[in-house]
Amino acid sequence: MEGIDFRGKRVLVVGAHPDDNDFGAGATVAKAAGQGAEVIYLIATAGQRGSSDENMTAERLSAMRRKEQGDAANVLGVREVHFLDYVDGELVPDIRLKEQIVKFIRRYRPDFVFTMDPSFFYYKNYGMVNHSDHRAIGEATLDACYPLARDLMSFPDHAREGLNPHKVKDLLLHSFVPENANFYVDVTDTFETKIKALSLHKSQVGDMQRVEKRMRDRAEVSGRLARCRYAESFVRLQLPD
Ligand SMILES: [Zn+2]
Repeated sequence: MEGIDFRGKRVLVVGAHPDDNDFGAGATVAKAAGQGAEVIYLIATAGQRGSSDENMTAERLSAMRRKEQGDAANVLGVREVHFLDYVDGELVPDIRLKEQIVKFIRRYRPDFVFTMDPSFFYYKNYGMVNHSDHRAIGEATLDACYPLARDLMSFPDHAREGLNPHKVKDLLLHSFVPENANFYVDVTDTFETKIKALSLHKSQVGDMQRVEKRMRDRAEVSGRLARCRYAESFVRLQLPD
């Protein structure tokens, strides 16, 4: 298996909801942070619709989920967590969202960007539709990386804020479909940290034993493809200069 070296690197991880980054790439995040990478989370919504409890309000859930994400990020070694102000379930990959992501890319100048694979629409084997917010954040992030953040003529006003073009050269896209992947990260050493982080998303995980089993099974499937015990799978795009 091809290795990946996060030492001295900066990683921007972009998701739609609190918990997306942790479910999709949490063990790789912990591995990168453990190697000394500076990991920054950018999350588009506070996941304020992620509850079927009739007594829950969007405001309360939003506050809970931000706190849960902060706690989980701490466990994984994430340096900073930032939220945008979008509403759960209503995310679209429009130019406003793309510009906000471009600003983060230009400010933090990441070596790696992780996000959700926007080409993952549905999974016929499991009768599953991928949430529209997941597709939207993936598409907006890809467009932000290429061509918007690197292009001098895109959002020229940013220069006044000291935000200059930046080329993201390495993109890791996660989905729930390990067979689509072309890159696997050996996360045998950080998989348990991921489970701990996921358990902190209390408003979402419900039956943690079931979640843990599902994640363990999935990491083992990826691990078999990667010839290690546990792996996380990605589509890796290494963009040319
Ligand atoms: Zn989500």
